[in-house]
Amino acid sequence: SLTIGIVGLPNVGKSTLFNALTKNDVLAANYPFATIEPNIGVVGVPDARLGELAKVFGSQRQLPATVDFVDIAGIVRGASEGEGLGNKFLANIRESDAICQVIRAFKDENVIHVDGKVSPKSDIETIDTELILADLQTVEKVLPRLQKESRIKKDRLPVVKAVEEAQAILEDGRTLFSAGIIQGSERAEPLRELHLLTVKPFLYVFNVDEDELTDETFKDEQRALVAPAEAVFLNAKLEADLAELSDEDALELLESVGQDEPGLAKLARVGFETLGLQTYLTAGPKEARAWTIPKGATAPEAAGVIHTDFQKGFIKAEVISYEDLIATGSTAEARAQGKARVEGKDYVMRDGDVVDFRFNV
Ligand code: GDP
Repeated sequence: SLTIGIVGLPNVGKSTLFNALTKNDVLAANYPFATIEPNIGVVGVPDARLGELAKVFGSQRQLPATVDFVDIAGIVRGASEGEGLGNKFLANIRESDAICQVIRAFKDENVIHVDGKVSPKSDIETIDTELILADLQTVEKVLPRLQKESRIKKDRLPVVKAVEEAQAILEDGRTLFSAGIIQGSERAEPLRELHLLTVKPFLYVFNVDEDELTDETFKDEQRALVAPAEAVFLNAKLEADLAELSDEDALELLESVGQDEPGLAKLARVGFETLGLQTYLTAGPKEARAWTIPKGATAPEAAGVIHTDFQKGFIKAEVISYEDLIATGSTAEARAQGKARVEGKDYVMRDGDVVDFRFNV
């Protein structure tokens, strides 16, 4: 499955955040026999629709979609020079599908900042610079060979052109992501063989003081720093505390700081979105469940997420939108009102489709 790598300077609250994430590990709760890896936190994407579906179908349990966060220890200035820790760090990022930067905004004289002062802007620049330098090295290493190759193989020219364009952006001190060249998009396609870092989608977690959680002016300033990437604001210590509390006590604590849900819930949702994923839903007496598919997946591809046999033997899908199902109150009533659609193998799934697949075995 797709993963989000968590990176950041030392002492910004990464471990605190990651501990909170692993305390929320849905694997531990729902799949007691799953292997839990120490540096991966599997977090549920909160989805209120599952509770509503469970009511309609009398489902015994609810299974949300999940996002995998990987703790990537040790960014250091000079990581791009590939010494020791730096090398391992870059290799770990290369394996992630998105990059989540944790940025310190909280003020605490007892927690030393590596650069002596709390400055989200300069921290972001420090991390971006290491990633940009690493990509520049990759580009400079392969470009002469690619240029030579393209003199004989004309079909390699688009790759050369894309790499030259990437080089110009990186030399300008910008990430490829911020220039709109994003993994999975057509523009990033010719660069795929280079395994670059800054084509990965970025998201930002600002670890803020509690009073900043409701400071819209402050938050807008930080959002402007990282656009077009998404920003999530949370207090890592508070998140760790919340993970220890009952739902009721957690809600009370959240309300006391002007929040209606944990920051981790937002992080899971934004992370899921950043990875380019969406869900469809299934429901029955056993469970109400959200299944993860890439945006643009067809009905047979969606069926394949449940079981490969469902994809191979796909016949059709009966689809009712979540809204129609809730409005009509049951599958039978939705059918009676003409709200149940029968879709074939070319159907492109929409978020919130409640689906029943028909297949040959
Ligand atoms: P890491 O080096 O990025 O993994 O940072 P840690 O999670 O180890 O945190 C470094 C220090 O900052 C620890 O003493 C934490 O208790 C403290 N810390 C983490 N998050 C917060 C926060 O939101 N507010 C305050 N005041 N301290 C925090």
